[in-house]
Amino acid sequence: MSKISKALEKKIRQQANERCGYCLCPQKLISYKLEIEHLHPEALGGATVEVNLWLACTGCNSYKAMKIRAVDPLTKKSVKLFNPRRQDWREHFEFSVDCTEILGKTACGRATVASLQMNNIYQKTARVAWVESGKFPPSDY
Ligand SMILES: [Zn+2]
Repeated sequence: MSKISKALEKKIRQQANERCGYCLCPQKLISYKLEIEHLHPEALGGATVEVNLWLACTGCNSYKAMKIRAVDPLTKKSVKLFNPRRQDWREHFEFSVDCTEILGKTACGRATVASLQMNNIYQKTARVAWVESGKFPPSDY
């Protein structure tokens, strides 16, 4: 991965509100450092520049890997993955009533939830504890 300056990393972290752009897990609730990710993967020619960088948790980032598209489980169509820099989270996702699952509202949202496995057992288990503690979901997403 290309070197990202400390100043640029700080800027991206602030822009992303110190949380994963996909599952919204907040930096303050996890025990490792959220990663700066390439929205368009570096391996596919994505540049290490501000407009192509965002913040992601290790889970979302590792499942996203080199993907830029995924299949919407409802329509079975291949669509672009959600872009947390350019798209509005609330337009494409919502929380389940108990806030422990992320539901896709659009083809893009559904494909991203499925592809990034945003409701896997580890994510859900953590969300249950965060919700019980009153610290999740974020109040300003
Ligand atoms: Zn995440």
